[in-house]
Amino acid sequence: MKRVAIVGAGVSGLACAHRLGELAAKAGTAMEISVFDAASRAGGTIASEEKDGFLLEKGPDSFISEKPWAVELSGRLGIGPEILGTEGRYRKTFVVKGGRLLPLPEGFYLVAPLNPVSFLGTPLFSWAGKLRMMSEVWVPRKTGSADESVADFIRRRFGKEALERVGQPMVAGIHSGDPGRLSLSEVLPRFKALEENHGSVIRGLLKSARSKDGHSAKAASGPRYSLFLSYRRGMETLVRALVDRLPGGTLRLGSGIRRISREHRKGAWNLTGQDGGTYPADAVCLACPAHRAADLVEDLSPDVSKKLREIPYESVATVNLAYREEDVAHPLDGFGFVVPAVERKSLVACTFANRKFAGRAPKGFLLLRAFVGGAFGKEFFEMPDGDLQKSVGKDLAALLGIRKDPLFCRISRWRESMAQYRVGHRDRIRRIESLLGDFPGIFLTGSAYRGTGIPDCIHNAEQQAEAVFPLLTKEGNGEVIG
Ligand SMILES: Cc1cc2nc3c(=O)[nH]c(=O)nc-3n(C[C@H](O)[C@H](O)[C@H](O)COP(=O)(O)OP(=O)(O)OC[C@H]3O[C@@H](n4cnc5c(N)ncnc54)[C@H](O)[C@@H]3O)c2cc1C
Repeated sequence: MKRVAIVGAGVSGLACAHRLGELAAKAGTAMEISVFDAASRAGGTIASEEKDGFLLEKGPDSFISEKPWAVELSGRLGIGPEILGTEGRYRKTFVVKGGRLLPLPEGFYLVAPLNPVSFLGTPLFSWAGKLRMMSEVWVPRKTGSADESVADFIRRRFGKEALERVGQPMVAGIHSGDPGRLSLSEVLPRFKALEENHGSVIRGLLKSARSKDGHSAKAASGPRYSLFLSYRRGMETLVRALVDRLPGGTLRLGSGIRRISREHRKGAWNLTGQDGGTYPADAVCLACPAHRAADLVEDLSPDVSKKLREIPYESVATVNLAYREEDVAHPLDGFGFVVPAVERKSLVACTFANRKFAGRAPKGFLLLRAFVGGAFGKEFFEMPDGDLQKSVGKDLAALLGIRKDPLFCRISRWRESMAQYRVGHRDRIRRIESLLGDFPGIFLTGSAYRGTGIPDCIHNAEQQAEAVFPLLTKEGNGEVIG
């Protein structure tokens, strides 16, 4: 019987194992799948906790519906009915300016103003900044297809103020990175395509909004979801459902892997655990962070290892704080806010957790989830718990008019957890994949390569499972060739 080893039981490793199981069941093939994780729990950065009637998300709090793979997988796992959309009446995002929360104007798409009336009325930008942003429609198209940074693109098309006031904090809120180093092709591919195809982001977005209106009747059929989704009992629902589907003995927690070497048998691999144990496998899927994968393949291929280490990571923390409603002056009439780096606060963003999704706090209470760290918040990420709680609590109190200390505070740190897709990322990944061609049976998946969001992680993991499967079955190439 063929053996597959998957290193990492985050959503990527679990989705890969699940898809392999589906394919094996469909083909009637027996296969031994083992999922190793160094941690004592599955899920990686996905972690939910119920406490005193609150539902805390310590890692991700949602996934987007525009990319269908998380919704599709949920359907196959039977947790489709657990999917929870956002609360429509609070669909508003604030941006901090001069210590105040200002709403993003209506019809504002990341940095592109699409509704001139509400845009001209916002105090979020100066008049000079507004004129510069609206003149994006006349900015000439860039020639050549070379990748550029997100910051260069926004500055070139919308001006410096758009970058400082919204571009930087929105990108930091999602990718925790420095837009001056992040790849436009990876982080904002749609904006790149809009410039290429329409000569202007604003013009392209308006055109696609008009054509969507024309098709709205057709689009209304089938289930309709809000942009952000979660599950009634939290994001860990997905992890639990995936784990429940694995045959007993598949998941090996507290079993970190240290290195991978060639087995004497042709085309097979040997995994060495941190406890010194060895595990033979016909195929290995590395679903751990790129810097960990680099350690594992160091002996096998110093070149692959070196390239994997070129993918940098940022460290982030979430700080969940619970309050009584009566102790908070701000109405919290939105999903949350982002904080531009120029405002110099301890937090990068904050979600009003029980406004965004129902059931996150008992009646009469509020749950705030602050996001700390990333490229512009390293010193805050490194603070001891007590100092971090104090800094975040103080900033939240000033911004939201909070009169009392939180009822409780839960800090969750995720060191080197957010892969940074720097300029040239795609070429780097192609190079790694081409080098891996010399090691058939070894695959990479996870948030470091082809998308950091949960739907992308699932999609990539399932694609890798589909690529591994034929190597392990008689219908495919037969023996894995080494
Ligand atoms: C705070 C935070 C908030 C986020 N918010 C969102 C969000 O709202 N929406 C969204 O779509 N995405 C969000 N993301 C991103 C998303 O959560 C991740 O990209 C995704 O969960 C990564 O899954 P993964 O399985 O690839 O990696 P991970 O979750 O990092 O899992 C990797 C696993 O590998 C294991 N491992 C590492 N080394 C070894 C080893 N040597 N041997 C064995 N096991 C090992 C680790 O223990 C870990 O369990 C967020 C991320 C963070 C950190």
